[in-house]
Amino acid sequence: MAIRFYDSLTASVQDLIPVTPGHIGMYFCGPTVQSEPHIGHLRSALIYDQVRRWLSYRGFDVTVIRNVTDIDDKILALATAQEPWWALAARVERAFTAAYDRLNILPPTYTPHATAHIPQMIELINRLIEGGHAYAATDGTGDVYFDAGSWPSYGELTRQSLADMEPAADGDPRGKRDPRDFALWKGNKASEPEDASWPSPWGRGRPGWHIECSAMAVRYLGATFDIHGGGLDLRFPHHENELAQSRAAGDGFARIWLHNGLVNVGGTKMSKSLGNFTLASDLFAQASPIVVRYFLGAAHYRSTVEFDPERSLGESEAAVERILGFLERAERKLSQTRYAELLTAAPVPEAFADAMDDDLSVPVALAVLHDTVRQGNAAMDAEQWRNAGESYGRVLGMLTVLGLNPRDYAETPGAQSVEQAALGELIDARLSEREQARQARDFARADHIRDELAAVGIQVEDTPAGPVWSINGK
Ligand SMILES: [Zn+2]
Repeated sequence: MAIRFYDSLTASVQDLIPVTPGHIGMYFCGPTVQSEPHIGHLRSALIYDQVRRWLSYRGFDVTVIRNVTDIDDKILALATAQEPWWALAARVERAFTAAYDRLNILPPTYTPHATAHIPQMIELINRLIEGGHAYAATDGTGDVYFDAGSWPSYGELTRQSLADMEPAADGDPRGKRDPRDFALWKGNKASEPEDASWPSPWGRGRPGWHIECSAMAVRYLGATFDIHGGGLDLRFPHHENELAQSRAAGDGFARIWLHNGLVNVGGTKMSKSLGNFTLASDLFAQASPIVVRYFLGAAHYRSTVEFDPERSLGESEAAVERILGFLERAERKLSQTRYAELLTAAPVPEAFADAMDDDLSVPVALAVLHDTVRQGNAAMDAEQWRNAGESYGRVLGMLTVLGLNPRDYAETPGAQSVEQAALGELIDARLSEREQARQARDFARADHIRDELAAVGIQVEDTPAGPVWSINGK
């Protein structure tokens, strides 16, 4: 068994040879919590959940670290008098966590916050200054920069030479020696809140984005670790800078780099100005979480996903329905036979495992899954119950590894218990009575029905698509 990943730039093979046998340390860049998650954030987190689940299935003990950048120019810019930066960051982080949970993305082993690791960042910057790879600005601003020219390997991740590099995009650079030097520490400005700064040898200030990840990854995974991941848009400058500063400071840092492709919406790169910005909440309004997960996880992780708002989720929904339809049919039929004990997850087929070992080739693995569904249905048509049961086990095993086991979702169509289904029908009947009352302008009666439901813990929310109910917020 050998697991390999291809480099996102050169497609050269990176064999996974763990630093510590049997253990994998994996860091990937989490969100800057400035505004609610969009489709690209979800895809990135989901890809690394697929990697983690596959490595766990292969028997590795996996430590997953996904950070939260909770201090940043953009967070400060969006803060208001009513909602200070730290409250804004906490609120947005909750939205991210809720979206990850709905998609059945396993929680990381640990979620470090940038603001809780300032001493580690200062220590790392000190090492860089001592080694001659960083300098404090001489203009008294308190900024500290990485000296790009001092590190001959700078550019190794993205195969660039220093001479070809663009100036670092630091907002308002002060006291920089070379435009390609990037900020490690940003001195506090009079325009910024005092509580968004921390004491340091260079005066009060806050960390630059890149140094955060370098310090937090090593804090939890050791100086050299196995996998570092993130979106393709982070490859340069973020990951290049992480690598340069960590190696310059003497850390081995990541051995393998994974970069997931981005999501295009309606054929173009997503942007707020183009009006094709798709939020997590837009997706969840259109399809159940298991369908959203299927859609975002079905393409190869290095490819670009094209989201077509009219079609994409419908196609995924049909695929999920085929799979769940098979599971339900098998459960119904086999529970009557002596093969009922086969209705449990079994090891995945070899072809599926080979595909996953080979740069996490989920599209190939999914083809194996759909083939197995077809075989299982054919076996049931022929009343070959043992074969059908074996297919069921393999399908459930593959779904579990992909995070698509319907039992892991509270909101899966068809995965309801008899009691849930009956309750749902009763509530829907009450809601249609309420609709009739509203249309007849009998608002007292409509409100009465709503209050009655609320009294037993059923909340009704009116949306443009009609009323939506939930029980105690679930
Ligand atoms: Zn990062």
